[in-house]
Amino acid sequence: MTFDMIDGEKVEQAVRLFLEAIGEDINREGLLDTPRRISEMCEEIFGGLERDASDHLSVTFSSKESGMVLEKDITFYSVCEHHLVPFFGKAHIAYIPDGKVAGLSKLARTVETFARRPQIQEQLTGQIADEIMKHLKPKGVMVMMEGEHLCMSMRGVNKPGTKTVTYVCRGVFEEDLSLQNSFFQIVK
Ligand code: ZN
Repeated sequence: MTFDMIDGEKVEQAVRLFLEAIGEDINREGLLDTPRRISEMCEEIFGGLERDASDHLSVTFSSKESGMVLEKDITFYSVCEHHLVPFFGKAHIAYIPDGKVAGLSKLARTVETFARRPQIQEQLTGQIADEIMKHLKPKGVMVMMEGEHLCMSMRGVNKPGTKTVTYVCRGVFEEDLSLQNSFFQIVK
């Protein structure tokens, strides 16, 4: 898969236009380098747009174990696609292998690649689960994300500290409530 690269020049022009639109003087000292800084920052915070999430999980190891693998408290930072302000928090991922496991850091890498795009948390949660299903073909996957959304904290309803919790189940997790419960027990 090929990805469009972020057009840094265009980002800089857009930031200048945006600052003018909100009535700022783009030539004042503090703002002079802001367009360049934001353009460079986009390479990081939207860098997931330039990467294929498949890269991380395409290498797998065979394993005879069939117990739950759970990686919890994976810190993520993302940007809400409706307001372009951050949301961030923790992701927890569990899967039941069916012959294949992934390197542990690869789960966190997968979270990062999807998070570093304009996102909504609901979609992000599902994308991570689907990517694991696609490559590891496990018996099941469960992904839970807890995020604070600055578009709820600093504007709109102005409720700082509110956590949005999303989770998705795939495969055996969908039907098996006791499996879901063990997941919730471990991550809480
Ligand atoms: Zn938002």
